[in-house]
Amino acid sequence: MSARLIDGKAIAAELRVAVAAEVADLTKRGIKPGLAVVLVGEDPASRVYVRSKATQTVEAGMESFEHRLPADASEAALLALIEGLNGDPAVDGILVQLPLPAQINANRVLRAINPSKDVDGFHPINVGRVATGTGGIVPCTPLGSLLLLKSVRDNFAGLDAVIVGRSNIVGKPMAQLLLGESCTVTVCHSRSRDLPAICRRADILVAAVGRPEMIRGEWIKPGAIIIDVGINRVPTADGKSRLVGDVAFDEARKVANAITPVPGGVGPMTIACLLRNTVEAARQRRGLT
Ligand code: NDP
Repeated sequence: MSARLIDGKAIAAELRVAVAAEVADLTKRGIKPGLAVVLVGEDPASRVYVRSKATQTVEAGMESFEHRLPADASEAALLALIEGLNGDPAVDGILVQLPLPAQINANRVLRAINPSKDVDGFHPINVGRVATGTGGIVPCTPLGSLLLLKSVRDNFAGLDAVIVGRSNIVGKPMAQLLLGESCTVTVCHSRSRDLPAICRRADILVAAVGRPEMIRGEWIKPGAIIIDVGINRVPTADGKSRLVGDVAFDEARKVANAITPVPGGVGPMTIACLLRNTVEAARQRRGLT
């Protein structure tokens, strides 16, 4: 058996087309949604992410505002910038690229963003709303992962879902979303005992660990659906490098029913969902359903 590939690139492209259509509709009504992205410092990976977010925002017909602060910027300077963006009517979404330099308290910064413009969904108000099933902006990577799962089947009620990783940006919100889908959810982390045995129970396995190919083929239940969130750069024999996920793809593919590749799986969905969240925030702020 060879698992079906879940084509995140294609599904993200469809989502971007749908977002662009909504933007066109809003623009006709005189509303041009705007996304502000804030980058502090020169982290090369963050610069690449910020660039692609800005490019895709413009491609979807939205306004993109990029703000760059130096690596030694103070927390006060960043908070002042956020306050300005909170009050700026042209800005519907605010995203502060993580990680932030050590002198800045990321939690304080995330709390400073107006929850209605918090398109990353990291503000405690949005976290609480998602956890209580009362709306809220859903973080982009878990949202993208759920949409990929829904491309395989639309009803997950009663299935065993195992999430490896308990971060605030992926693991925990993913658990909330899958609970919302009526899965029986297990969340694992670095202190979990006998991870292979727990993974083997999973009808749905979400890997968000950050350890290259840690999850082996023999950890996977035959017929499982695998969402590999991990993005790990590993050296190759020719002195270059390549990206791999947290799941040993070639092994897992022989056992699973469907699996996301890395790259080309969850990655493209994250930015597409950011665009979707921005349009949604633009609508909600104006009371449009
Ligand atoms: P974090 O480092 O914040 O969290 C990693 C989690 O994995 C922690 O909960 C940690 O446990 C757990 N963990 C670490 N080692 C083990 C182990 N040996 N066994 C079991 N659990 C373990 O990472 P993120 O959630 O931010 O990201 C996870 C991965 O997803 C990374 O590769 C990242 O690059 C990728 N990513 C991809 C995105 C995309 O768009 N595709 C977006 C965001 C992230 P503990 O809590 O006990 O330390």
